[in-house]
Amino acid sequence: MPDIPVWNKCDNRCVMCANTSAFALNSRRHYFLKRQAVRLERHLRGAAAYSKNARVAGAWNLTGGEPTLNPDFLRTVAYFRRRLPGEPLTVLSNGRRFSDKAFAAAFAAAARPPFTLAVSLHGPAAAAHDAVAGVKGAFAQTLAGLKNIFGLPGAPFVEIRVILHKLNYRGLGATLKFIKRSFRGRPYRVVVMHYEQEGRGARNRARLAVPLSSTARAVNAAARSLAGFSEARLYHFPLCLLKPGLRRLAVISLPPEDRVYPRPCRACAARTACVGLMRPYFRACGAGELKALAGSGA
Ligand code: SF4
Repeated sequence: MPDIPVWNKCDNRCVMCANTSAFALNSRRHYFLKRQAVRLERHLRGAAAYSKNARVAGAWNLTGGEPTLNPDFLRTVAYFRRRLPGEPLTVLSNGRRFSDKAFAAAFAAAARPPFTLAVSLHGPAAAAHDAVAGVKGAFAQTLAGLKNIFGLPGAPFVEIRVILHKLNYRGLGATLKFIKRSFRGRPYRVVVMHYEQEGRGARNRARLAVPLSSTARAVNAAARSLAGFSEARLYHFPLCLLKPGLRRLAVISLPPEDRVYPRPCRACAARTACVGLMRPYFRACGAGELKALAGSGA
């Protein structure tokens, strides 16, 4: 199902944002509800209305920029919900806008199930998170937003994402502990992923680049902690870099055109269950970290 950009501006300036600068320069009017409705109707009639993941099965992702900054956001959510009954919808957000209780309540009323709110946390404390988000105070607002959403009966399911790169991967264990402590007893899933080398993430390569084998080592070291979540997923990690016990958490998180299976994958027994390598990562770093798995390795 497609990625649907709902707004092209953002109030965070995350160092690893995968959007290009050209995207933020598009006119705002492309994202108002009237245009969204025209595009969705075209898509439903089979036309090529969306450029990313257009025909991939799974959730419909309402993305940005920061979707909640669209002045039509709540009406847009209600529109997609009404027009796609029973389809899983996901909003990808920095979570800050939900620190406004009234806004969080209006969102929860519009975002009827099956609906997921995916919010990224970049570290276990304000200093770590805000350094990645590029905005002082972002951590406090994101946290308040999550707490408001969790406090609303019938609110959408929450996914908390931790996107790893050189600035924060060493703190993964502390971040997972913080999440567990802060949202004990709440229904949510945690997703840990390696960052994508696109947009600002590619431009900031010198600050962010870290081998997948290093972030996978941090994930492997956090295996016990991950086992303590009611649901955990790993995105963008080749199975051969993960401990056997963690491989079942790995999800093929990218469409076929965004990933590659280099030479070591040809002899690998796990290939059909594995995401392979992100295409930009392969271009920048090659496939030297991969090792074909034998037999029941997956
Ligand atoms: S070698 Fe196998 S496990 Fe490793 S990336 Fe390739 S397909 Fe995946």
